[in-house]
Amino acid sequence: MAFVIPLPERPSLAVSNGQRFPIRRVFCVGRNYAKHAAEMGASGERGQAPMIFSKPADAVVDASLGAEIPYPPLTEKLHHEIELAVAISSGGRDIPVAQAMGHVYGYGVALDLTRRDLQEQAKAKGHPWNWAKGFDFSAPVGTLVPAADVGHPQAGRIWLEVDGALRQEGDLDDQVWSIAEVIAAISAHVELKAGDLILTGTPNGVGPLVPGSECVGGIDGVGELRVRVV
Ligand code: MN
Repeated sequence: MAFVIPLPERPSLAVSNGQRFPIRRVFCVGRNYAKHAAEMGASGERGQAPMIFSKPADAVVDASLGAEIPYPPLTEKLHHEIELAVAISSGGRDIPVAQAMGHVYGYGVALDLTRRDLQEQAKAKGHPWNWAKGFDFSAPVGTLVPAADVGHPQAGRIWLEVDGALRQEGDLDDQVWSIAEVIAAISAHVELKAGDLILTGTPNGVGPLVPGSECVGGIDGVGELRVRVV
């Protein structure tokens, strides 16, 4: 097969076993912790379905050894959102909630970096969130850990410090929609496939980052993430 341009590089993440996890697509859940929904001026109630948006696969940055993230263009309000990332090992359509966890390869600690000013403008105009969420380097993720090793974390502390000060703190148990429910909901819209990555929402305490900000975050039983904005 001759391609007219070089094949694009496949983004991937480090796994704790020394292998790598290739990224196919990135889905994100919005407003999945009630206190964060409230700080965004939104309802934290379940409603009919989880609110899902996406980022391009190459927004993912392997932060297994720490990462330097360039401050993105066209914003003066870059925000941190610490999140549990779920790596999908096998896909399907209309996956039942009861079978959803069988499609999970493992977990990681991620940042859903957000150009909050562009998001506020998009919300006001009823426009898509695309440029607020789907920009280069907007999804640094730490080392993935296989569910075969750590199980499926359903509760545990999720936190983020910026320059040594605690900014975000919550518990996975506070998630409005469970991981299984999110997998089921996404697979109702599209065929979920191996390599898909899901960022499952952030607890309250989101706030600004500036060049030089040192972010250290973690999730009990999953690991830690270190990112520096440059
Ligand atoms: Mn988020």
